[in-house]
Amino acid sequence: MKDEMEDETGKDRDDSALMKELGKVSVAALQKARSVVKVGAKLLDVAETVESFIKDAGYGLSFPINISINEWAAHYTPAFDDARTFSERDVVKLDLGAEKEGLLGDIALTVDLSQDNQELVDASREALENAMSMVRAGARVRDIGKEIGSTIEKHKFKPITNLGGHGIDKNGLHTGLFIPNYDNGDESELEEDTVIAIEPFATTGKGVVTDTSVCEIYELASVGMPRSQDARILLGEIVQKYSKNPFAVRWLHSLIDSKFRLYAAMHALVTSGIVEPYPVLVEVTNGLVSQTEAQMRVQSDSCEIIAMPEK
Ligand code: MN
Ligand code: MN
Repeated sequence: MKDEMEDETGKDRDDSALMKELGKVSVAALQKARSVVKVGAKLLDVAETVESFIKDAGYGLSFPINISINEWAAHYTPAFDDARTFSERDVVKLDLGAEKEGLLGDIALTVDLSQDNQELVDASREALENAMSMVRAGARVRDIGKEIGSTIEKHKFKPITNLGGHGIDKNGLHTGLFIPNYDNGDESELEEDTVIAIEPFATTGKGVVTDTSVCEIYELASVGMPRSQDARILLGEIVQKYSKNPFAVRWLHSLIDSKFRLYAAMHALVTSGIVEPYPVLVEVTNGLVSQTEAQMRVQSDSCEIIAMPEK
């Protein structure tokens, strides 16, 4: 028993060092992403460049890079044949993370190509910084949310109330701990040593997101036996390569050439409950959305920053 406890302690220490390493790689990847987001550049090229950057450094991806533009708040990643380019009207959220041994990075920032929405970007950044200054063991979840919401409202924007931060552990990105972007009345307290992500979303709209019919990101839910041959081909690859974390349809394209058959097979996997879809989330009044996300470890009297996007 004693030996097991020592092993456990040693393992935690290793995890903590690896988390910091993942934080560094994630920050570098986000800098890379920001440097290639330009008016006229293809979203697909940015996605491939950044995902290769992380893989070439020897890490996995926590999830496909999210490149969500304007009223799309989250969960867009380019399709395999995506022709879309960035325009001079775009407010671009970049959300990504490096993964290793089941530990996950998760950070985000917003690039304002429109040069007209810097305050919207700054509002989410300032809300994040203010929230982080409150993080310590015993801090109430509702108070952190309140700080985020009031900071965003001070800039005359709205926080998105049905998106928020979360705990992160070896089992995944969402541990059950939800850190709201407003005072949601949750009296529960942050616990020492918990790894969390805080991610304020600010919008010019009403402050609510909903699903669209666009979906490029999925996650394995439970292994089954789909009837369609195409779905079985995809499932084999998903189980082998992407069983732990969300994946992009784009990553499966080499298995099925036909776009129609590829998406039909994905649809079959969803309807049979084998994969879970992560549809693009849109602000319900089509408001512009900004997001800034950092990752940290809760300490007794403050937080240890694991990954914070550069300003
Ligand atoms: Mn994220
Ligand atoms: Mn997150």
